[in-house]
Amino acid sequence: MGLGSFFKRNKENKAEEVIESHIDINTDDCGGCEKCSIACPNNVLIIVDGVSSVRDPQVCKSCKVCMAICPNDCITVN
Ligand code: SF4
Ligand code: SF4
Repeated sequence: MGLGSFFKRNKENKAEEVIESHIDINTDDCGGCEKCSIACPNNVLIIVDGVSSVRDPQVCKSCKVCMAICPNDCITVN
């Protein structure tokens, strides 16, 4: 699985830029248990369509709590 890309409006809200995420989620193995989204102290992760997704990689502090709590080893934080 590659790293995800995220589209964000720039400050002028006119153009979009691509922000690479340092959080990789193996959605094939994710069971949607929500443990990561509940545990993340910065509310980075959200469950969408039954799998964990990165809501905003820019607020991630790389604490790796999500990696530690995932029962399926789905998450890699670089
Ligand atoms: S590394 Fe920490 S801050 Fe980043 S998504 Fe995981 S739990 Fe949240
Ligand atoms: S803790 Fe793991 S299995 Fe559970 S929702 Fe998060 S990524 Fe998926």
